Parts: sequence; C-alpha cells; structure tokens
Amino acid sequence: MNETTNEFIEYTAEAVVVGAGHAGCEAALALTRTGIKTALLTLNLDSIAFLPCNPSIGGTAKGHLVREIDALGGEMGIIADKTALQIRMLNVGKGAAVQSLRAQSDKNAYHREMKRVLENTKNLRIIQAEAAEILTENGKCTGVKTTYGGIIPCKAVILCTGVYLNGETITGHVVQKSGPNGFAPATHLTESLIKLGFQVRRFKTGTPARLDGRTIDYSKCEIQNGDEDIYPFSFMHDVAPKSKLPCYLTYTNLKTHEIILDNLERSPLYNGTILSTGPRYCPSIETKVVRFKDKERHQIFLEPEGEDTLEVYAQGLSTSMPHDVQRAMYSSVAGLENADIVRYGYAIEYDCIDTLDVLPTLEFKKVEGVYTAGQINGTSGYEEAAAQGLIAGLNASLKLRSLPPLILRRDEAYIGVLIDDLVTKGTDEPYRMMTSRAEHRICLRQDNADFRLTEKGYACGLVTKARLEKYLARKEKYEELLASLRTRVEHKAATDFLKNYGYDEPSGSVSYADILKRTIPLKEVMDYFGVFSQYPKNVLETAEITVKYEGYLKQGLEMIERAKKLEDKALPPDIDYQSIAGLRLEAREKLDRIRPLNLGQAGRISGVNPADISVLMVWLSTR
Ligand SMILES: Cc1cc2nc3c(=O)[nH]c(=O)nc-3n(C[C@H](O)[C@H](O)[C@H](O)COP(=O)(O)OP(=O)(O)OC[C@H]3O[C@@H](n4cnc5c(N)ncnc54)[C@H](O)[C@@H]3O)c2cc1C
Repeated sequence: MNETTNEFIEYTAEAVVVGAGHAGCEAALALTRTGIKTALLTLNLDSIAFLPCNPSIGGTAKGHLVREIDALGGEMGIIADKTALQIRMLNVGKGAAVQSLRAQSDKNAYHREMKRVLENTKNLRIIQAEAAEILTENGKCTGVKTTYGGIIPCKAVILCTGVYLNGETITGHVVQKSGPNGFAPATHLTESLIKLGFQVRRFKTGTPARLDGRTIDYSKCEIQNGDEDIYPFSFMHDVAPKSKLPCYLTYTNLKTHEIILDNLERSPLYNGTILSTGPRYCPSIETKVVRFKDKERHQIFLEPEGEDTLEVYAQGLSTSMPHDVQRAMYSSVAGLENADIVRYGYAIEYDCIDTLDVLPTLEFKKVEGVYTAGQINGTSGYEEAAAQGLIAGLNASLKLRSLPPLILRRDEAYIGVLIDDLVTKGTDEPYRMMTSRAEHRICLRQDNADFRLTEKGYACGLVTKARLEKYLARKEKYEELLASLRTRVEHKAATDFLKNYGYDEPSGSVSYADILKRTIPLKEVMDYFGVFSQYPKNVLETAEITVKYEGYLKQGLEMIERAKKLEDKALPPDIDYQSIAGLRLEAREKLDRIRPLNLGQAGRISGVNPADISVLMVWLSTR
C-alpha cells in the first residue's frame, strides 16, 4: 500500500479487459485461451454477458457474426445453443446469403453460463471493480487503476465499456445517472480516455417494457414456434437445441398510434431531452409512428425472457415515454389490454469513441497496447460486440506473443466488413451489421463460416485441435458429397423425375448437380433416388448451395480477386500524405487521419476518390 496515494497492486496481469459484456467476455477468453494471464474488470459480476435488451442471439447478419465467432473459437454460439428457448432460420424464402439463425435466449441462463465458463477459465482473474484510469508511459499502456486505487500493471488493455460509460437513462422527464437495468454506470474512465487522445461522443439506444406473462391474453396473438428441422449455432454441436417456449406476434393499431402522437411533446426524443444519435435500424415506437405515418400497424413480438421467469419482452415497442403513456399505449394492443408492466421501457445515453482513431487490429492509434471493442466503438448489438471483443483480445494476445495480427478482409468475414467499416468510414450513429453492408455476401454465408475461418483461428492458437478436427471432418464429407453430386444419374430415372417437375427429357446425360440447378431442392432428390441420407444437415446444405449458386459464386470469387489487387498494395505506415503532389486537400487530410493499410482500404475512405487512388498508385510505383 502506498500511504500517500492509497494505491496498491491489485493483481499483476499481462492484459486487462475492462467490461464483462459480450465484447469483454470474448476478449478475455481469446486472451486467456491463447495463454495470456488476464484480469477481467466489471462494475458488477451480475452483469456478466447480460442481455439488457432483446433476449435473443443472432438474426439477420448477426447470425452470420455468431457463426464466425464460433468458427474462430469464440464462446457466443456455444452458449446461445445451450441456453436457447427456441431457434429459427430467418429468411428461408430468400437466397442463401441472407439466411440467418436466430435463437430466443434464456437471459439469466445465458449470463450464468458465461459466468461459469469464465470462472473456470485458466489464466483469468475476474474482479468486480471500476476502472478509473489507463496508465501509460512513453505512449504505451502500463496498467489500469481502479476507483479504489488498485493498480493492475499490464501491457495491454481492452476497453469494452458498453453502454455504461457515463450512462444516463431517460424515461419521460426523469433522467438518471445509470447503466442499463438499474446497474451502476462507470463515471470515471471517460476523463482518462480523453487525456489519452480519444475523441469521445455520445450515442443512445432504448428498450421496451417487460410484461408479466400471466397477464397477456395470448389467444389474441399469433403463435411463433421455433424450427424443428434446424441445426445449431456452434459448429461443435451436432444437434440443435429443442424448442422449449413459443413467441407470439401481435400488432399496434391506430389507437396506439393516436396515444403516441397525442403525447409526443412528453417524449424525450421529441421534446429535446435526448439529443444524441440512436440506432437507425432499431427505432423506438415513437419514431416509427412519426416516421411511417401511413402505416396502420407495426409488428410486436412477445418473447419470453426465460424458463424460470414470467417476464416477457415486447419487441417492437421500444420507448422512453413517461410511465402513464407507456401503460396507455401497451394496453391498446390486442392481447395486452390487461398486461402488467413489470419493468418500464427507457432510453440510455452513453459515451463512445470515434473509431477513425483505431487500427484494423482494434488497437488505438495513439497509445500502444490500448484496444477498444463493442458498444464503445459506436456499434449496437451483442453479436457486433462479441465479434470485436474476440478480434481485439486475439490481436492483443498476438502482439504480446510477438506474432502478426489477425486482420480479416471484407471478402473473408462479416467481422472483416464490420471492422473495416468502423476504422475506414467511422460511424455517426450506432452501427449495426446488415447483410447489405457486405459486398461479397454470396461468399460470406453463415453455413460456410468454418470453411472461411477455422484454420485461421487455429493458426492464431484460439481454435482447439478438437474444433479443427471437427471442421476437417465436415470439409471431407462436403467434398465427398460434392463429388457424388457430380456423378451421372441413370437417364430414364432422371427423365422420369424431371418430368414430375414439368421438365422435358434431358438431351444428354445429367448429374444430380444438373438436376439441382433446375431449382429442385436436394431433399426431394434424396427422397426420390434414395441417396445421400448418410450426410448431416449442415454438409447437405453447404453442398447444395455450392452447386445451386455455382455461377454466382464464381462471379463472387472473380470480384474478390479483382478487389484483392488493391488490397495487396500495402501503403507504408509512415507516408507523408501532405507531400504527395496531386492528392486533393480533403484526401490528404482523410488519408493522414485514417492511415489506411493498403490501396483497397484507402479507396473506401469517404472523401478519397478514384483520382486520388490513381495518384497513390503512381506514387507507389515510383518508390
Ligand atoms: C436499453 C438498451 C437497449 C438496447 N437495444 C439494443 C437493440 O435493440 N439491439 C441491439 O442489437 N442491441 C441493443 N442494445 C445493445 C446491447 O446491449 C449492446 O450492444 C451490447 O450489450 C454491447 O456489448 P458490450 O460488451 O460492448 O457492452 P455491455 O454489454 O454494455 O457491457 C459493458 C460491460 O462493461 C462494464 N464496465 C463499463 N465500464 C466499466 C469500468 N469503467 N470499469 C469496469 N467495468 C466497466 C460493465 O460492468 C459491463 O460488464 C441495447 C442496450 C441497452 C442497454
């Protein structure tokens, strides 16, 4: 103990993770599983991997992220499977690229299971404490200090502070200093971040009320069951979780909208109380009613929060209206006439940083060893947070082990798209992953995440031997099936089968693959010809997509090859952009700030146009 400052060494680690939300948990696991002695700080042990909003994991594009996290050796997919109340494949009627798994999760079980995993992790010390300051020397991280003066000397810190940094909740006219769900906010760290050179700004998000399930009249709602014929999130699991509880669908109506519009001046979003930017793609019900005036109803999904609780989440009714307005609007909805609200909806504002100051490894450009991941990077969503946490933790570990970093390209993973968008374009509003953000999405499907990433994860030391072997076995089966699909089908049998679908007799010989390309499902081919039933569902799916989308996949790969030509042209980190003649002023400023790693990344910076890229190409060729 230092008598004058009350400072003491709390623990000595190689890395400290600040925050045990979805980013922090994956970061801590990536570090410890690759042999780094790590301390994990959280304001409250009860908020470990807490799901403060939707009790669900996955969904469009987010499901892709979960499978990528899993393929790289992360934990989210494993726990999502273990704690699922039901699991569904979304967008089954659409193309393979946009199909995504979504699990309804048992919120408390998810938290408990992640806590159990962390508690049983070698090299990890979990401490309930608030990080107040990041300690540095000569531009390098040297430790973390807690509000009580505890110092944890370390060489790397991963900041995963989520929605807690100077968190303020807002409901009606009541503004409180608070994290989500009544948890305490973190009130000291922002000052230290500003001193380090971070540009801090403020975003907001919101959540709906939770209802007492006993008081909902489900007979007025449509039941939504999970899928039976489905596979799990984790490539390590062979069987999908059993559906335990259904969800229900109901709708707002003109009465609900009238209540909202009549009380708009009491909405913090419309009376000037909330000025920060919220998530465009998860708007509050107030915003939806104002923005889509002509819409007569909006969907509301009633989702159970767990097996051991009566709380029901009302997805689609996110609001920060005063309590009396919330009661009136909820009770105007079919099925919710007598529903009791057990937790009211609220909005939350928090501090986050500008990711243009962050490298593609998620390390801060101005201080070595300081990484950021999750909501602090301006993203929204558990999956986005977990994906960044894994990459930040893994890159910190790789650096501590003097190994090259893992930077996933946009054509390799949604995680690559997410991080590249953040560090190249930045974001002025909470960023959420969407399939439309991925230009190579036909190649980045959720079914092939292991094909794209598992060997990379193994090379970094994060993927276990058991996972690698499971992947290699799946790959072998897939290749075997693909070869079988390309074998010839007896002509008469093929003709008879095709005639059932209105096709003429084929002119030459046909393979199973040729039949599949006529948009006939593999399942029907299997049933008719009595073939391939020995293959697991996930092998059949990947092979079927490979065959059916062969043309698109070929085009996709050609596009990737073309893009790679620019990605392969590295830009030295010490370029003096100001001195390159021919670059426009805006391009010079942006290039100087963002310091892209290669010409491909440079071309994606807003304000850098093709003419600037040509100038850089000429400049590179003369060096
Ligand atoms: C009200 C609300 C509504 C939301 N709505 C949506 C939505 O509609 N859709 C969606 O996808 N996502 C939504 N989210 C976002 C989702 O909760 C987050 O994206 C996700 O949890 C972020 O994960 P994270 O790991 O970055 O941070 P969090 O899960 O917020 O975890 C942060 C962790 O950091 C710890 N911490 C913070 N500061 C310190 C410190 N100084 N010292 C020690 N520990 C610290 C906390 O204790 C906590 O463990 C919502 C969140 C809230 C609160």
